[in-house]
Amino acid sequence: MQGHMMPTPLLIAGLLEHAAHWHADTEIVSRPAEGGPLHRYTYARAHARAKQLANALHKMGIQSGDRVGTLAWNTHRHFELYYGVSGLGAVCHTINPRLFFEQLVYIINHAQDRLLFFDLTFLPLVEKLAPHCPKVERWILMTGPEHLPAASSLPNLSAYEPLLAAESADFAWPSFDENTASSLCYTSGTTDEPKGVLYSHRSTLLHSYAASLPDCFNCGARDVILPVVPMFHVNAWGIPYLAPLNGCKLVLPGPGLDAASLFELFEGEGVTFSAGVPTIWFGLLQFMRAGGHRFSTLRKMIVGGASCPPALLRAFDEELGVEIRHAWGMSETSPLGTISTLKAKHLDLAPEAQFFLKIKQGRVIYGVDMKIVDAHGQPLPHDGVAFGDLLVRGPFIASDYFGAAQPGTLLADGWFKTGDVATIDPDGFMNITDRSKDVIKSGGEWISSIDLENLAVAHPAVAEAAVIGVPHPKWSERPLLIVVRKPSHEVSGEELLAFLDGKIAPWWRPDAVEFVDALPHTATGKLLKTQLRKDFAGYELPAGG
Ligand code: ADP
Repeated sequence: MQGHMMPTPLLIAGLLEHAAHWHADTEIVSRPAEGGPLHRYTYARAHARAKQLANALHKMGIQSGDRVGTLAWNTHRHFELYYGVSGLGAVCHTINPRLFFEQLVYIINHAQDRLLFFDLTFLPLVEKLAPHCPKVERWILMTGPEHLPAASSLPNLSAYEPLLAAESADFAWPSFDENTASSLCYTSGTTDEPKGVLYSHRSTLLHSYAASLPDCFNCGARDVILPVVPMFHVNAWGIPYLAPLNGCKLVLPGPGLDAASLFELFEGEGVTFSAGVPTIWFGLLQFMRAGGHRFSTLRKMIVGGASCPPALLRAFDEELGVEIRHAWGMSETSPLGTISTLKAKHLDLAPEAQFFLKIKQGRVIYGVDMKIVDAHGQPLPHDGVAFGDLLVRGPFIASDYFGAAQPGTLLADGWFKTGDVATIDPDGFMNITDRSKDVIKSGGEWISSIDLENLAVAHPAVAEAAVIGVPHPKWSERPLLIVVRKPSHEVSGEELLAFLDGKIAPWWRPDAVEFVDALPHTATGKLLKTQLRKDFAGYELPAGG
């Protein structure tokens, strides 16, 4: 027997429609990519313009399922594209401009983007891309006509504003199956070729609800959200969707991601909540310390995308009075999977014990189920000690890649293998110990490269550290610690190893330490260990061990 409830499909356009009706005068503030003063309007205006855009897209022949690419910062126009494109039933393909040129060409061609919307900042890049992307029919510069270049090699170049100005805001969002594809993000390819994750309206809406929950982002109509995480990085972790769902004021920082510009926006717009990767927050921390600044409204920050360094959590929590919530996820999980929010029973723990929980990647949010398994796929206990491959499943977890070479092979028994290695404690707090490809397999036992890196960066002379496995005749692999020293700081390899002694099991002690000027990173700021392994191929460990 079926329930007697309305089968209203969960559609993305409905989020903005809701905000336009019920939070009509709530603001969206944006720093335009082409410079100039802050742009300010309301959800009601944003909705009207998203409908004008939908009319324009319709006229350009964009149909359900077509891919429309964006190369853009967090701005109001990018926000309109999120809704105009998906609302029409087409797929908003957000492209990460920080990827390598060859990856960008690969992604645009693989996605078969028909249109490409881009910010002025990316004009030189786009001019180089265009000859390699012949399937793109039109290139649209996301600004007014006054910024169109006098001469450009781009075929069919036009400006965004005149496109909208020519259209009416009279548009009825179509209704369709909630499982229809809505947006597309390619993983940054830390380990492989970029792979397309194709979200649906249903998965996006469920993820927005889940991300809004009190133990997750905990946002409401009194919040002012500034997503530092780019809208080209897994849909800015869902913030452009959950802001209208909750009626939050939205502050979009454009290309100004330096600490001074961010602080100005935090203070000027009364931001209460923000989210981004650790690197950004380190920059902000240094700025706050150097200038003796304090936040007057910022209460909470989500740190994710890479492991939150303990020093960062301490500094924001204890020095600046901002609650940090450490979150884990990936493109394939929409992205939120877990977040480290304490339970009631933890509030009586000593501060150090609380810290130990908060620095973990945390508990699943509803909609995500997870387990850890050993090399034979057997479940491991949730004792906080045993570590194994992390598997997840749920309604906002990918079931396949877009245009996969071998469709239908992504899942094993209905579970998605994350490529991360983790522990889970009895309270459900998950802790990443490594990427499965980075873990060092020494004599049949695993050594966590991340644990060693975290310990090494705690040394006052270390700016950044990476640990990779180097082939070893007896142990099969042994750890090599690669370190970038802080400017005008000195430390020797022996001193660093002595610093680790007592903090790790003796057999975890790296066999050698190398100093470099810089470490390679991916487009999303993660350590590029594939490159490091190439750089140190054939590395000779000192004799002994
Ligand atoms: P890619 O795998 O190509 O880098 P993603 O951007 O989807 O693409 O990154 C997901 C990965 O980032 C996760 O599988 C995990 O290894 C890492 N990650 C994300 N958040 C965290 C975190 N809080 N702590 C440690 N690692 C994290």
